[in-house]
Amino acid sequence: MITNIEVILADVPTIRPHKLSVATMQSQTLVLVRVLCADGVEGWGEATTIGGLNYGEESPESVKVNIDTHIAPLLVGMEARQVAKAMAKVRKVIQGNRFAKCAIETALLDAQARRLGVPLSELLGGRVRDALPVAWTLASGDTARDIAEAEQMLELRRHRIFKLKIGARPVAEDVAHVLAIKKALGDSVSVRVDVNQAWSELEAMRGIAALEAGGIDLIEQPTRATSQGGMARLAHRFAVALMADEALQGPQDALAIAQAGGADVFAVKIAQSGGLLPAAQVAAVAQLSGISLYGGTMLEGGIGTAASAQLFSTFGELEFGTELFGPLLLTREVLREPLVYRDFMLQVPDGPGLGVEPDMDKLRELRRR
Ligand SMILES: [Mg+2]
Repeated sequence: MITNIEVILADVPTIRPHKLSVATMQSQTLVLVRVLCADGVEGWGEATTIGGLNYGEESPESVKVNIDTHIAPLLVGMEARQVAKAMAKVRKVIQGNRFAKCAIETALLDAQARRLGVPLSELLGGRVRDALPVAWTLASGDTARDIAEAEQMLELRRHRIFKLKIGARPVAEDVAHVLAIKKALGDSVSVRVDVNQAWSELEAMRGIAALEAGGIDLIEQPTRATSQGGMARLAHRFAVALMADEALQGPQDALAIAQAGGADVFAVKIAQSGGLLPAAQVAAVAQLSGISLYGGTMLEGGIGTAASAQLFSTFGELEFGTELFGPLLLTREVLREPLVYRDFMLQVPDGPGLGVEPDMDKLRELRRR
């Protein structure tokens, strides 16, 4: 039986300013959900979001209020082993709130997998890989600093895929910044951009043409998520891979985008999809439609990153790798044992459940009061 659900907000400074077209992050608010069960098993989930309401409809504070006030009372007293039944109740009664639902579903699945003594990936169909390629985001906004940072990552053998956050400056300036970095890093390194919806369709046509000619191999969400027709026209016009991110808010969007030919690649995000199982449906739509997969992040800490890794390890195909570097952007670790990044890959934890344990002492120190 589910006996208690607790939401913890913990503010952790980032290792450097992280510039997005919608916000500049100096710290990240981790939103952690802990579900306690009568049999002594507990499960954890995470509902961390990027830039709060600058990015999407849920903020750390709204997740906490909505779980505490509306979602927890629905679940306390229900059978903890019946995860699907519990989530069906939540999804029937609660509109939206995809991040909150994801954290709750993750915590219930974590608890159930621990009870069964298996990694969470086994409840999601079973893993086909034990390690995931991880991109790094260069987002200092400064060209020389970004090149130095990328060279350091290559030397550490931590990342060889780099994503640049652009869209805040004029198109020509952004393109010059990206191509200078691509030129400095060379052909053996993958350089990609995320525009976070900042371009109009006309700007996108100019920007994408220049980036494609310069050897950039993936363009993420160049235009408004709501302009499905625009993305489809761009995907049709250019050979370079276009990826949907903000436009993908669950399986229904995945189906509509696939039907419209609105993307070559899907960025699968567990929270944005509304949970691990809806995210698995997003991936299934992609695979049935010939759309490639990429494992996205909301810059979660170790709990959400482990949950994403458990799901992405089950994808038959993961052509564009992942960006599960969230914990590496934070100055403080909240796990007892940090996730392992080695040889350009994140090792998928193989213990029961998520395979990671939160450090309660550190959380007590970091949590917002
Ligand atoms: Mg993105």
